[in-house]
Amino acid sequence: MTLETAAFTPPYRLLMGAGPSNVHPRVLQAMSTSLLGHLDPSFLAVMDDVRRLLRYVFQTENAVTIPISGTGTAGMEAAMVNIIEPGDTFVVGINGYFGQRLGEIAERSGANVVRVEHELGKPVDADRLREAIRAAGKVKAVGVVHAETSTGATTSIREIADVAHEAGALLVVDAVTSLGGVELRVDEWGVDVCYSCTQKCIGAPPGLAPLTLSPRAVETLQNRTGKVRSFYLDLTELSSYWDRRAYHHTAPISMIYALREALRLIAEEGVEARWERHTTNGTALRAGLQAMGLSVVADPGVQLPTLTAVRAPDEIDEAQARRYLLDQHNIELSGGLGALAGKAWRIGLMGHNSTGPNVMTVLGALEDAMGDQGYETQAGAGVSAAQRVLRGID
Ligand SMILES: *Cc1c(COP(=O)(O)O)cnc(C)c1O
Repeated sequence: MTLETAAFTPPYRLLMGAGPSNVHPRVLQAMSTSLLGHLDPSFLAVMDDVRRLLRYVFQTENAVTIPISGTGTAGMEAAMVNIIEPGDTFVVGINGYFGQRLGEIAERSGANVVRVEHELGKPVDADRLREAIRAAGKVKAVGVVHAETSTGATTSIREIADVAHEAGALLVVDAVTSLGGVELRVDEWGVDVCYSCTQKCIGAPPGLAPLTLSPRAVETLQNRTGKVRSFYLDLTELSSYWDRRAYHHTAPISMIYALREALRLIAEEGVEARWERHTTNGTALRAGLQAMGLSVVADPGVQLPTLTAVRAPDEIDEAQARRYLLDQHNIELSGGLGALAGKAWRIGLMGHNSTGPNVMTVLGALEDAMGDQGYETQAGAGVSAAQRVLRGID
């Protein structure tokens, strides 16, 4: 056995898949600053900034607004394991892979799960949820994915919040691919539990899952009859670390520096301006893909600006095209997930990476990757359609 290794310098990649996405140099710099102890008074000020800035990005005044240690899936687990007690009914609207995962996690948390399945590319329908809730009897919580990353479809939250609240249930929203990139208003829309991650539109590396609880959700936690089954993800314990600095587990210091810097960048830009930027670039990308004769998976009215799932033409080997993009262009795209595996590309325009030049770069590169397999599109059609949108002509 040899212990010899070479120094590792990652190749430069433009990360335009479903996350992680590239981060601003200020975020990387923040991560390389000195460690502090997790109870150091200087670090406590960092934690306070993070909570304050997270409330801004979530558009909430919720007292419990903290980053969970772990990726987006840790946010899903934290939401479910704290809200659900064994035997509770959880109704989940499913329109793709992540809705399925939410149902799976609820089941592992002991819920009796009612799955309301939708066609891929469609949003979750509030009326169908209402019917399912009526049929289910007493419902503890209703869950939906705001931005379904497997198909690129957005679900409108406000009406679903009304449906949940009419039934006396909490609304749980997965905002993993929307927070910091797509309009999201936790308080105004009536979301009770909302979680996300750092590596998608927030613009930091993977490793934290911002989460917020409404006062109604906090009350549900206080009224639990049994202990939360996870020690690590117990939100009552975690909030006492964030509020009263009681040791629970060691905070991932460098990741919290990174999140703070990423949130500062969002505050400097303004969250609404940031939503707008993502909308413009998403529209430009879609226009380009359509001009190349490709078809997007999500329904036209509900297409996410932050992630576009686009069908690969039958003649194309989608995995080979992604490999070509990585090797020849240093661009990473994601493949299809779940039912779309092998049939689609998923193109992310998230956070720091959602720029006009990146839209043009990826369209040009995709044209080349398809051409490499003998699939010809009209030269430059995608790039020029995107340019028209970016210049405000279309
Ligand atoms: C990426 C994603 C997750 C899971 O996040 P990880 O950071 O991969 O754990 C959950 N929900 C949605 C909608 C996602 O896009």
